Amino acid sequence: MPYSYDDQNIFAKILRGEIPNNTVLETEHTLAFNDIAPQAPVHVLVIPKGPYVCYDHFALEASEAEIVDFTRTVGKVCEMTGVGPGGEGFRLISNAGENGVQEVPHLHVHILGGRNLGRMLQKG
Ligand code: 5GP
Repeated sequence: MPYSYDDQNIFAKILRGEIPNNTVLETEHTLAFNDIAPQAPVHVLVIPKGPYVCYDHFALEASEAEIVDFTRTVGKVCEMTGVGPGGEGFRLISNAGENGVQEVPHLHVHILGGRNLGRMLQKG
């Protein structure tokens, strides 16, 4: 099994209502909430409600309904936070695995904006 989901991860606990979150938007298959340690004025995490470890897991195995719902939610959060259509822009990041330095093993994308975010990657 290339993907092994740990249902004790912090985002699974948020989805079960065991830990509070500051919700931005909730849909049938997706939850968007503010990051607890924001690195920019806008820092929203978007997660699927299904048990997917990382982006490739989701992209390969999620249903079309889940993928559409997740992608539309990203778009709506960009609209709601003002970084999106007509806004000053944003960065969408999804860390995966060891080299991606993923801390929480439940797929999430970060939507970051509200300031100039600098170059995409630092050397080293
Ligand atoms: P990663 O490094 O896995 O891409 O990002 C994990 C993100 O989850 C970090 O930005 C971290 O601040 C955020 N985070 C960790 N625990 C919590 C929590 O309990 N609530 C919220 N809202 N965000 C969290």
